[in-house]
Amino acid sequence: MSSTSMINRSCTLTGGYGEPYQFTEAPVPTPAPGEAIVRIDFTGVCHGDVYSRDGGGPAPAAPIRPLVGGHEGIGEIISVGEPNQGFAVGDLVGIAWRGQVCKVCQSCREGAENYCEQQQIVGMHMDGTFQRYVAFPVDQLIRIPPSLDRAAACPILCAGVTAYTALRKMQPEAGKWCVIVGASGGLGHLAIQYAKHFGLKVLSIDGDAAGNPEKESFCWSLGSDAYIDFLQAGTQLSDLVKTTTDGGAHYVLVFSPHQSAYDAAGDYTRFGGQIMAVGIGNCHISLRPILRKNLIVRSNQTGTKADIEEAMRISASGKVKPKVQLMSLASVNEALGKVKAGGVLGKLVLDVSSNVGLRT
Ligand SMILES: [Zn+2]
Ligand SMILES: [Zn+2]
Repeated sequence: MSSTSMINRSCTLTGGYGEPYQFTEAPVPTPAPGEAIVRIDFTGVCHGDVYSRDGGGPAPAAPIRPLVGGHEGIGEIISVGEPNQGFAVGDLVGIAWRGQVCKVCQSCREGAENYCEQQQIVGMHMDGTFQRYVAFPVDQLIRIPPSLDRAAACPILCAGVTAYTALRKMQPEAGKWCVIVGASGGLGHLAIQYAKHFGLKVLSIDGDAAGNPEKESFCWSLGSDAYIDFLQAGTQLSDLVKTTTDGGAHYVLVFSPHQSAYDAAGDYTRFGGQIMAVGIGNCHISLRPILRKNLIVRSNQTGTKADIEEAMRISASGKVKPKVQLMSLASVNEALGKVKAGGVLGKLVLDVSSNVGLRT
């Protein structure tokens, strides 16, 4: 059967910000020059997808519609147009955050295309992976090691590479203390494992208002060396971190977009330590602790294609295993609601192969 006679089932945004996904059907496209058609099996659900549906964050002021969201998809190429850049039918590939970069700006020329100001974001500026078949430029496809579990590998395309690149930028020295704020979430639970890969001691910080033990036991199961519930710790948080880390954190990864997380990090980071801002929201950080303790504050925005492939290889070696909860593509609105509400342990991943229409 030719691809043009096959039907593609998509979850599509058609209304304004805040309107839910609709289920649409259309013929599977044929690839344009330089494009491949990828049959998606699984796709992760990310905060970026919440912005695409509901607005805010990096989403454009006026919504781009119709739009298929999703940017953590994995599947096989079913057809490819020339030039194919070495990709062929049957290759296992991933579709991540970027669908297009300019290749001429300073960041592109310096091999940091994740900072390209002209980048087209998948599932925000162009159609993404909340559908069975995606037409996608081959030069932004990611090669996926076939040994990896397809569902479990999805989060590495975005959350995993972000956590890994953030850690690597700090050039961490084994044996030192890394504090991870927001440790049980999509980014945090992968950061714990990558930090252990770098030989760091990990203090996980997260919070449960009701005092439930799930987040804490989840962090322990991933290799944490210590855990603090910041809600239970209250004003004692910094003292507890300093005691646990024998004087303060050497490295802090802040995945929480809350001001209190940055205020606390400035307090419990030790002399000469580094704070990596990833969950930025509208936060600021005081210069006082930076000056007083010679701190370094850095930031990180996803990673390059090469970074993703490096993060994948580390996962393929068995050192980093994303914890995923599977849902059907039909549950996309429910899944986005859960991500928006917070508190998901690990990552939600949608099974696209069992696509049977949106659940109402
Ligand atoms: Zn993402
Ligand atoms: Zn560029």
